[in-house]
Amino acid sequence: QENGYEKIDYVFKVVVIGDSAVGKSQLLSRFTKNEFCFDSKSTIGVEFQTRTVTIKGKVIKAQIWDTAGQERYRAVTSAYYRGALGAMLVYDITKRPSFDHVARWVEELRAHADNSIVITLIGNKADLVDLRVVPTEDAIEFAEEQGLFFSETSALSGDNVDTAFFKLLEEIYGVIS
Ligand code: GDP
Ligand code: MG
Repeated sequence: QENGYEKIDYVFKVVVIGDSAVGKSQLLSRFTKNEFCFDSKSTIGVEFQTRTVTIKGKVIKAQIWDTAGQERYRAVTSAYYRGALGAMLVYDITKRPSFDHVARWVEELRAHADNSIVITLIGNKADLVDLRVVPTEDAIEFAEEQGLFFSETSALSGDNVDTAFFKLLEEIYGVIS
């Protein structure tokens, strides 16, 4: 399979989930296009975006899926999770309910996704230091209990976004290779 200039060794489907307004779409556009859009609307109709990266000498096309507003209606379907090798489960460090709902999203993943799916918990909007209500320690504790990877990111500044996605993709590569 060719993308014009390099051979693709693997395609990894990754789903981004979590409550509405936590920054899922912005994380996706930061990772795939290095963009942050200040007047973003929900991206109805756009199913996924891709970025091709090299991990351990293999060319991997990351296909990152966005819920595109479905999370408002709790209508994320099992088709969304089908074939996903990884998940980014995002909450907003300034919105306690978005963290309280993370357990429910993990249940959703366990119910609909493959057993071997690699999950990263993401505390986004880390740039909003004065508005933080979710302590990092709470998230680390939850992630350890549930066997999830964990990072805090800012889609706005770009802090940790690539690192978090690369870590997830490397772990997926470890699972499938
Ligand atoms: P989604 O509903 O989870 O896809 O959330 P969006 O990506 O649409 O973002 C929701 C709102 O949060 C928008 O107003 C974004 O500009 C804002 N936002 C997203 N990520 C960040 C971030 O890292 N820092 C800050 N300060 N705002 C963010
Ligand atoms: Mg969105």
